[in-house]
Amino acid sequence: MNNKIEEDKMISVGINGYGTIGKRVADAVARQPDMKVAGVVKTRPTNEARHAIANKYKLYANNLENMKNFTDAGMEISGTLEDLIEESDIIIDCTPGKVGPANKELYISKKIKAIFQGGEKAPIAEVSFNAQSNYRNCIGKDYVRVVSCNTTGLCRTLGIIEKTIGIKKARVTLIRRGPDPGNSSKGPVNAIVPNPVTVPSHHGPDVNTIFPNMDIMTSAVIVPTTLMHLHTIVIELKNPTTTEEIKELFKKTPRIILVKASEGITSTAEIMEHARDLGKKRGDLNEIAVWDESINVIGNELFYTQAIHQESDVVPENIDCIRAMLSITENPDESIEMTDRAMD
Ligand code: NAD
Repeated sequence: MNNKIEEDKMISVGINGYGTIGKRVADAVARQPDMKVAGVVKTRPTNEARHAIANKYKLYANNLENMKNFTDAGMEISGTLEDLIEESDIIIDCTPGKVGPANKELYISKKIKAIFQGGEKAPIAEVSFNAQSNYRNCIGKDYVRVVSCNTTGLCRTLGIIEKTIGIKKARVTLIRRGPDPGNSSKGPVNAIVPNPVTVPSHHGPDVNTIFPNMDIMTSAVIVPTTLMHLHTIVIELKNPTTTEEIKELFKKTPRIILVKASEGITSTAEIMEHARDLGKKRGDLNEIAVWDESINVIGNELFYTQAIHQESDVVPENIDCIRAMLSITENPDESIEMTDRAMD
């Protein structure tokens, strides 16, 4: 598993939808020793399509009708989504939420496995996925959904606490970013929007697609920021623990990092600056950042605050999901380690 394998034995991954998530997933696939990008699908000959070509990804149109627009724009196009499916072992569907169900009909007819994203409803897939929580449930499956950025963040930290200490109940407030940084068409610009205004927000039930028995209640507001989501979390614990034990637990768990206000990381702005300083492409942060000082065990309750880089935390999850669905390894730790090393 560790060595770069022969070109013709590499997993050929097609990416349908080359936007915020799709372009990151393509780059992550390209960096894996056992995978290659078969091609990426765009609907229109946009600037992002030019980037795909510059990155040497074969470009496909979503259908025959749209193919002409690419040739008219002088872009080399390799065919349609149906042609890409022929070249692929698996498709990662990164189209906008709710486009997935129509695509799934095509995937079924072409007998190709597919991964959907968190913007789709859970029933689109046989099972929802979070590598650290339920990798083994997805081994050999044909249709799997990687849960959303917020749910991924919750599953990573709640998951390790559930596994080691036990959760009686979790209560979470999500402070959600408005749009992604590259989107100028959405707000709010100057408002805090309870969204939804009732409880639970969809995040709690989404965590239950991974942890069916967890007592979790979530509420959410949207604020005028593009950088990250932030969660304040209160957990009633099943077993005794200490603040130090929780810090150690988070420190040794992959894809979670501790950040310190005392070292100048006092907001999501400094976390993103930290990510840029790490030198990762696009300044992404695949890990969930938990504030060290926010971790407090008081009686049988645990409090902490975490930040989620919504554009990138789900990216390594898609990579592990490929290895589970294609039964490349049955050991989640092996896949997680391989993915993270390649993306470093
Ligand atoms: P996006 O709008 O940035 O990108 C979607 C891409 O798909 C665009 O390039 C668009 O042109 C293309 N597209 C549209 N219709 C298509 C079609 N019929 N066939 C092929 N391509 C098509 O969206 P995104 O933010 O990357 O979201 C993709 C999925 O990932 C959604 O389910 C979303 O909920 C989920 N997700 C998004 C984020 C985030 O913060 N952006 C985080 C986690 C999960």
